[in-house]
Amino acid sequence: MRQKLAAGNWKMNGTSATLPELKALADTYGTAGVDVLICPPAALLHRAAEVIDGSAVAVGGQDCHADGAGAHTGDTSAEMLKDAGASSVIVGHSERRTDHNESDAAVCAKAETAMATGLTAIVCLGESLQQRDAGETLEVIGSQLAGSVPEQSTGDSLVIAYEPIWAIGTGKVPTLEQIGEVHGFLRAQLVARFGNEVGAAVRLLYGGSVKPSNATEIFAVEDVDGALVGGASLKATDFAPIIAALE
Ligand code: PEP
Repeated sequence: MRQKLAAGNWKMNGTSATLPELKALADTYGTAGVDVLICPPAALLHRAAEVIDGSAVAVGGQDCHADGAGAHTGDTSAEMLKDAGASSVIVGHSERRTDHNESDAAVCAKAETAMATGLTAIVCLGESLQQRDAGETLEVIGSQLAGSVPEQSTGDSLVIAYEPIWAIGTGKVPTLEQIGEVHGFLRAQLVARFGNEVGAAVRLLYGGSVKPSNATEIFAVEDVDGALVGGASLKATDFAPIIAALE
């Protein structure tokens, strides 16, 4: 049985004034039967870790460098994230793939470093609208999965987030059939590559305009083990019902 996961990605949003939202979640969901993760901006991570200390809510990073340390101005290492209290890190979010030209190989290197540091890597992948309209979705997803996921992945160290680019922050959501098709494909690819045990243990999140109003139906789709949530994770009153929909 895979434990459900509700992961929030605050992106480049939030200051110390936003931390009470995290406190409200930690107070409410400290004993929930769902893993709850919030990925605040790196500058807030340490303080966020203090806020959730003693609760069942975890914090994670939004990106890490592939190198352990060194001359990489402005970057954050996996070790630094772990030291600040992170248990996980998102890698390969489409905004990073676009804004920073991150290739599958670069994402894979980051995920490898994260895993070697003891962090769970949440590897994001997803097609553009143009690719979906051209009927290339499974081809694109298969190629991103093959190129972005490290060989040494395990059921604990890897989470995959399927995030159609056209659904992120747009209010548009694929049909339940489309989500089910991609998640079923991802599960089959993972089993083929890593075997039954690891392939069945890796959690598959859906991401892209998940809201309290659509969470329940999305979570009922087979092989959807939770969500990676952007906008609706910024307020506890929006994120709490999404978590509740997983219980
Ligand atoms: C995301 O940033 O990963 C995301 C899914 O954003 P939103 O929920 O706002 O669409």
